[in-house]
Amino acid sequence: MRSAPFRTIVDHLMPELPEVETIARGLDPVLRGRRVDAVWGSGLPLHLNRPVDLRALRSAVAGRTIAAVRRRGKYLLMELGSSEDQGVLVHLGMTGRLRVQPAGAPRAPHTHVVFGLAGGDELRFADARRFGWVQAGAPLGAVAALAALGPDPLTELDAAALAAALATSRAPIKSFLLDQRRVAGLGNIYVAEALFRAGIHPAAPARRLVARAQELLEAIRASLAGGIARRGTTLRDYVDADGQKGDNASALLVYGRAGEACRRCGAVIRRRVDAGRATFFCATCQPARRSRR
Ligand SMILES: [Zn+2]
Repeated sequence: MRSAPFRTIVDHLMPELPEVETIARGLDPVLRGRRVDAVWGSGLPLHLNRPVDLRALRSAVAGRTIAAVRRRGKYLLMELGSSEDQGVLVHLGMTGRLRVQPAGAPRAPHTHVVFGLAGGDELRFADARRFGWVQAGAPLGAVAALAALGPDPLTELDAAALAAALATSRAPIKSFLLDQRRVAGLGNIYVAEALFRAGIHPAAPARRLVARAQELLEAIRASLAGGIARRGTTLRDYVDADGQKGDNASALLVYGRAGEACRRCGAVIRRRVDAGRATFFCATCQPARRSRR
């Protein structure tokens, strides 16, 4: 099977919530208060082969000051001017990078969108695979991708809302947590980590876990907080806004550890493939029966 190892590599490349949060925290103090004077584009299409709407970007940002850089789910939001509603949304896809560099410095290969800042620096979006996305929003909340997003697990989701959502689901818990309409920002790595922390089998039906919503939410937050504290999980290619690699990979409890000993009980961590995606878990700490109670 070629697809399984490939998809595992994809996980390694794909920034999740902690990586995007790390980038937002790095960019916010650098960009806050800076005026955007110009927008340049390579002309090449990005995600889903769609062209970047440079005209909309220019009209949204030109002459405006960056009020804040925030994260929602896996999206970076650059808020502009006095209106919180207007701004630019960036999704990093698999290989997208955002860097602030002097206008005179050579642009990296695969640079596709550049915001010229007053004072001579540039905010540059480079993306070798072009699965990322840059789009103006006025208002930002009306951008379809954001409007469809579920609650953010760090700032919006609470146990009651999670319990209600679990009750209406027909999916296994792993699929439920990966669904961005249910919970925003989780991917394959942090879902594996959160389910291990909660002692929940990845295939357990979501609707059977209503009574454990609080426990699950705490496990999700602990996994994400650990990733943020270590500036993201870098298994391969990801770097944060300063170009530094994160160091969460060595702290992972189950993800990527098939065949190694469980850090809690010593049993061998298992790997199986569901719908083409690798699932890592400890069958002792995450028994199928306990999850179904
Ligand atoms: Zn274990």
